[in-house]
Amino acid sequence: MLNVQNITFTYTKKSADTPVLNNLNFSVNTGEHVSIIGESGSGKSTLLKVIYGEYDLNEGNIFWNDIEILGPKYNLVVGYDFMKYVAQEFDLMPFITVEENIGKHLSNFFPKEKKERVQELLEVVELEDFAKTKVKTLSGGQKQRVALARALAKQPEIILLDEPFSHIDNFHKQSLRRSVFNYLKEKNIACIVATHDSEDVLAYADRMIVLHDSKIIANKSPQELYKSPEMPLTASFFDEFNLINDQIIYAHQLQRVDKSDLKVKVYRNYFKGHYYLIEGHTDDDIIFFENKSKLEINQEIYLEVAP
Ligand code: ADP
Ligand code: MG
Repeated sequence: MLNVQNITFTYTKKSADTPVLNNLNFSVNTGEHVSIIGESGSGKSTLLKVIYGEYDLNEGNIFWNDIEILGPKYNLVVGYDFMKYVAQEFDLMPFITVEENIGKHLSNFFPKEKKERVQELLEVVELEDFAKTKVKTLSGGQKQRVALARALAKQPEIILLDEPFSHIDNFHKQSLRRSVFNYLKEKNIACIVATHDSEDVLAYADRMIVLHDSKIIANKSPQELYKSPEMPLTASFFDEFNLINDQIIYAHQLQRVDKSDLKVKVYRNYFKGHYYLIEGHTDDDIIFFENKSKLEINQEIYLEVAP
């Protein structure tokens, strides 16, 4: 289990600076999948690096079971066997092949096991066809997948992933995400995933932590937070929403009725695949709702919150 206890961190150690992370507390259980979300610059990457022991804390402690994770001041070699970290910028060896990169830290004393292990990981990241390709010729997304496989090669107990699919194109993202996250669950590897993509979170995370203003403003299951986002920031991560009488109402919660207190004039239609998102205007507000088909501009519609 990972225990993050009262940690505070600033990049420069001047006391006047506002901390990037201010007194954070949370834990991650064995095999648990935790997502870290928050706006750009909210400290997601910093938090992962701090957990990995890349920086010294101003205050607080981090433990994996009874091992304390220490920064460079107390620990010359950054990193532990039980923990792996895949950064947004990956440092692969460009002039050797994909399979050589993945197997780089695996022992050569057991060539058969090594080969099988590399093959298994090539399948997890869906790069079987590129085993013999030199890394320097790969695309950004392919390199990201090699970095993932390499981090998993010696099975860690916990893995920290910083926007792990940010370079992957939409053609491969869904299936790769399923493959990697299901693999981690099967092997009972805990993971902390910094992401700005709700698809990384909804179907996979056991818990999500929302960072804002250097603090944790929510730490709950995706189901709970989706249902009661509490803050517009959290709602905006999931879906299009409205603030109606200070209540967060998702666009899909509004339905058309014959008559109601909420009358809008259709202003614009946005094609979304199996539905249209409709922008409607009241006298002084913009309201988003969903409809199966396109609506005529300037048509007047009555809406209410579906029971
Ligand atoms: P996120 O990953 O959520 O986008 P980051 O952790 O990268 O956020 O950044 C959090 C804050 O810390 C930002 O204000 C950023 O400018 C600052 N920051 C990040 N890296 C450094 C660094 N190496 N030195 C100084 N400030 C940094
Ligand atoms: Mg980041």
